[in-house]
Amino acid sequence: MKVTEHIAQSKGETRFSFEILPPLKGQHIDSIFNNIDPLMEFNPPFIDVTYHREEYTYKELENGLLEKKVVKKRPGTVGICAAIQNKYNVDAIPHILCGGFTKEDTENFLIDLDFLEIDNVVALRGDAVKSEMYFKSEKNGHNYASDLVGQIGNLNKGKYLDEDLQNSSATNFCIGVAGYPEKHMEAPSMESDIHFLKKKIKNGADYIVTQMFFDNQKYFDFVKKCRKEGITVPIIPGLKPISTKKQLNLIPYRFKVDLPDDLVMAVVKAKDNKAVRQVGIEWCIAQSKELIKAKVPFVHYYSMGKSDNIQTIASEVF
Ligand code: FAD
Repeated sequence: MKVTEHIAQSKGETRFSFEILPPLKGQHIDSIFNNIDPLMEFNPPFIDVTYHREEYTYKELENGLLEKKVVKKRPGTVGICAAIQNKYNVDAIPHILCGGFTKEDTENFLIDLDFLEIDNVVALRGDAVKSEMYFKSEKNGHNYASDLVGQIGNLNKGKYLDEDLQNSSATNFCIGVAGYPEKHMEAPSMESDIHFLKKKIKNGADYIVTQMFFDNQKYFDFVKKCRKEGITVPIIPGLKPISTKKQLNLIPYRFKVDLPDDLVMAVVKAKDNKAVRQVGIEWCIAQSKELIKAKVPFVHYYSMGKSDNIQTIASEVF
């Protein structure tokens, strides 16, 4: 079932959903199930599964030269989605990227999803590969998520890349896209970021999921700005509980989001990471309660593969 249908069915009641990462290559799929199992009591209608593109690694050879290798550390997004739908009977939502995909790869990926009866995708550009400064698309790939949304939209109309295909069947994907309450790190201004967000909606996106934020006012202001610009689709807030001291530096650096002073000082004063985890849980509970009061359609949690803190938060608020 589509995310938009789940929202319509919920009749204004806020529901619980979460995102997982595929396990590192070599780990068993049980490592994923062990983290999903405790969250199923909160009846998530869908679970998102991230997509991880290739990375370059360099290995020093005996002669001192470096050997460059291309590796995918977390493969398996589609397989995990199929396994989740099969095991839990909930919708699994794969993320799909521009990065690393030609248009042909994208089409074939979407055909696989359609055959697996996966009804939803989150369409993203992806970041630059770790060793590069800027995002580079494949030679025959997409530069921006809006173009990827356009291709999915075309497939939903039965328009494949090969225009000579006869009697081609249309897919029926519900398309989610990313939104940034504190603007995307590369965007020169919030206005331009919302301008291009609008393009993703115009090209066929059905809903927005936000980047994590730690101050709800940023989300409320973002929603207001989007509505003013004529964006009417649901905007699902994404939350991540802080769980380690290191994240105080990592999160603002990696995601370009602000951490409120009160949260920072509570983490600074925490005596160890167990205490930090508790601070993160309490902060996230307070954020969730306020968002639910504001009647958001879902509160979507970034689990990053560990579910115990999300379980504690969900049991307080759902
Ligand atoms: P876009 O919407 O393409 O925007 C990228 C930048 O380009 C923005 O600054 C935008 O303002 C600008 N822009 C857009 N269109 C144009 C245009 N036509 N001309 C000029 N500028 C333009 N990454 C992963 O690798 N895997 C995942 O599974 C994943 N899941 C995510 C889930 C969520 C909810 C979020 C918020 C992010 C996720 N990401 C993931 C990270 C995401 O890939 C990065 O944030 C990436 O840098 C931008 O992706 P986007 O889809 O927002 O890009």
